[in-house]
Amino acid sequence: MTTTGVGLKVPVIEVFSSVQGEGPRVGERQVFVRLAGCDLRCAFCDTPESFPAPRVARVETSPGGPREEQLKNPLGVDALLGAVLALDDPRGLHAAVSITGGEPLLHPAAVRALAEGLQAAGLAVHIETGGHRPGALRHVLDAVDRVTPDLKLESATGEPTPWDAHAETYDLLEAAGKGVCVKAIVVATTPADEVAAAARHACRHLPSVPFVLQPVTPRGDGIARPSASHLLRLQRAAAHHHRDVRVIPQVHPLLGVR
Ligand code: SF4
Repeated sequence: MTTTGVGLKVPVIEVFSSVQGEGPRVGERQVFVRLAGCDLRCAFCDTPESFPAPRVARVETSPGGPREEQLKNPLGVDALLGAVLALDDPRGLHAAVSITGGEPLLHPAAVRALAEGLQAAGLAVHIETGGHRPGALRHVLDAVDRVTPDLKLESATGEPTPWDAHAETYDLLEAAGKGVCVKAIVVATTPADEVAAAARHACRHLPSVPFVLQPVTPRGDGIARPSASHLLRLQRAAAHHHRDVRVIPQVHPLLGVR
């Protein structure tokens, strides 16, 4: 086991084994490490429970459940690493470990130490980020295998799009060859010209990966997904500016898995 994480602690929501439910790697079996805390407040957020750190983290002890234990927060990084490695049983069951949130890049030192330990054990490390913290990304990038950054559309989040931070994030990923896709969540009221601008931005800064439009998953909070015809209109608007535009919904809610 690595010793790089000795003394480091991080707030954790949950650790579990499931299938990747978003983006081009959908369907891949992964261990998910969901860290607590986020500095954004997207209107469509599906993990608002991650904002305050819970008193205990829920950690699966058999891949896919049902056995789990509750560990007191914040967790030591070496204990977290041990829990993830124990869950990858049989070894190689998972294609990668996805470190997600919340916003995992609020905890760059812990993410880096965890990633180094996972890589040393032969596991690929995937980061899912809002794409707005390039300074923290710079700190972890050489210790991870791939990164999925979001492109936060104002029509969907209710907050101004952080274009400059996204550009810096995408430039780093393009240079490192570690981008998976640029993912933008779209809602019923997302206009085509906003998606066109986003596709242009993604193509300018991270052209080597797909631009993914992810229709929001309705959660009874009044935020509706685009109609089929509007979704195709958005895809077409993006395709004027990007050679690889894909429409991929979240599939884990369809499967009934976490
Ligand atoms: S970045 Fe993710 S976790 Fe943070 S508010 Fe937005 S959707 Fe929620």
